[in-house]
Amino acid sequence: MNRSNLKRRGFVKLCGGAIASMLLNNSYGASCSTDCIIVGAGVSGLAAADYLRRKGWNVTILEARERIGGRVWSRTDWLGKTPVEMGASWIHGIFENPITELAQKAGFHLMAFDYDKSVVFNSGGSVISKEEMLRIRSDFKKNLKSADSWAEKQAMDLSLRNSFSAAERELSWSPEEIAQLDFRAHTEIEHEFAASLEQLSAFWWDEGKDLIGGDAFIKGGLNTIFEPLARGQDIRFGQAVNRVVHDSTGVHVTTEKGLEVTAQKLILTVPLGILKGGSIVFEPSLPDDKNRAIRRIGFGNYQKTVLLYEDVFWNKDLHLFDWNGGSKGKDWAEWVNLYPFTGEPALIAFNTADAAYAVESMSDDNIAKAATEALSSALGRQAPPPKDILVSRWGHDPHSLGAYSFMGVDATPRDRVTLGKSVGGTLFFAGEAVSKNYPATMRGAYESGFAAAKQCLDAGLCG
Ligand SMILES: Cc1cc2nc3c(=O)[nH]c(=O)nc-3n(C[C@H](O)[C@H](O)[C@H](O)COP(=O)(O)OP(=O)(O)OC[C@H]3O[C@@H](n4cnc5c(N)ncnc54)[C@H](O)[C@@H]3O)c2cc1C
Repeated sequence: MNRSNLKRRGFVKLCGGAIASMLLNNSYGASCSTDCIIVGAGVSGLAAADYLRRKGWNVTILEARERIGGRVWSRTDWLGKTPVEMGASWIHGIFENPITELAQKAGFHLMAFDYDKSVVFNSGGSVISKEEMLRIRSDFKKNLKSADSWAEKQAMDLSLRNSFSAAERELSWSPEEIAQLDFRAHTEIEHEFAASLEQLSAFWWDEGKDLIGGDAFIKGGLNTIFEPLARGQDIRFGQAVNRVVHDSTGVHVTTEKGLEVTAQKLILTVPLGILKGGSIVFEPSLPDDKNRAIRRIGFGNYQKTVLLYEDVFWNKDLHLFDWNGGSKGKDWAEWVNLYPFTGEPALIAFNTADAAYAVESMSDDNIAKAATEALSSALGRQAPPPKDILVSRWGHDPHSLGAYSFMGVDATPRDRVTLGKSVGGTLFFAGEAVSKNYPATMRGAYESGFAAAKQCLDAGLCG
């Protein structure tokens, strides 16, 4: 495709005439043209669209799903009375955070999530004492510090498992202490980063800026805080993009359903899992360094099972509890109590990395059984079956293929910058995975959308 000698208006006119009529007559059917195509109506895509529309650009959003929000997915199709979050749920670091501002603008109160209101159960309902917990936490910090200094001495990146185990050896922990440290690493690192210690980079696993101000929930559906950004936008739902033809003058995009859209600019916001999966063909293909970044940055899995009960039968004041049930408990190690936030007798059970894939491959009935068994072991008494269950299954979701990005062995923060770099002045990239400061969060996604839209604006429209 080469339209380098066309001015924007001439190009649009041509699209409105010859090209458009040609496309309308082809086997695919519909076509249209716009200033900027945004692929994906998640947080980053909506932020970009909002910015460009305010600057007077015509924007068309192509979204594979039938809803906005992407990995912000507030479900109401269950027996509970309040929406429940299947994707993002915490506003991480509420200070100076644009997501806090959006929530407040939408009239929501932030409900602080208090990690001190948490306990760790051993099997049989016994709770690890406060003193014991303090000791384990302090050992864990010592081990991490030692793991970091070990990693700093290595010539090449290795996995966090390598550095963590080296620290365990160096500090001569007993087998019982090692088991406790591994469990903490599971809940505090593997759950946080949606990846195993074996997958995470020893050098860069904890990249990014600190999130300040603590975490918070809102009651009422996170998706509603992003709805104002979508209002009045031209969003084409159910349109999964599978081909992007681009050169320095513009882009031509095709969707699986045969919609064809032409524009001067394109902002791609699909999850990294989709880029890794290769379902979008780029012509010409993306630069080598970008493909390398796509390969090296990891894309992990984090699975949520929401369980609704007739009544609360656990400590209703807890915000969070862990179950250290040995290797079996690793599949069902972390639970959030929704009762203090929504008043519903509901729990969310989390699984991460390999366990997330294993659990989401099971039927809902079998997941309910496995969760009930784990909960009964943790609490030391038989838990009733849930009256409703929702399962997120991000790993099998064709429009995500995982939960969020992490720094894999050999990846560096530079890869995120490369992933976000524009190509030829026409292709721009946004999404949580391009965020160097706040990856894997709504905040990172939102800020990346603005950044890509600003770059687009600076590149300008011709004609
Ligand atoms: C289980 C889970 C828990 C999380 N918890 C938190 C949390 O507590 N706090 C937090 O801040 N963050 C959390 N996150 C991360 C947060 O949800 C994401 O960082 C953020 O929502 C990503 O936004 P995005 O715009 O980058 O991508 P997405 O929201 O994934 O948007 C991309 C859009 O592209 C669409 N798409 C995909 N392929 C195509 C295609 N071929 N054509 C057209 N459209 C396509 C998708 O349908 C999607 O709507 C969590 C994520 C998950 C999965």
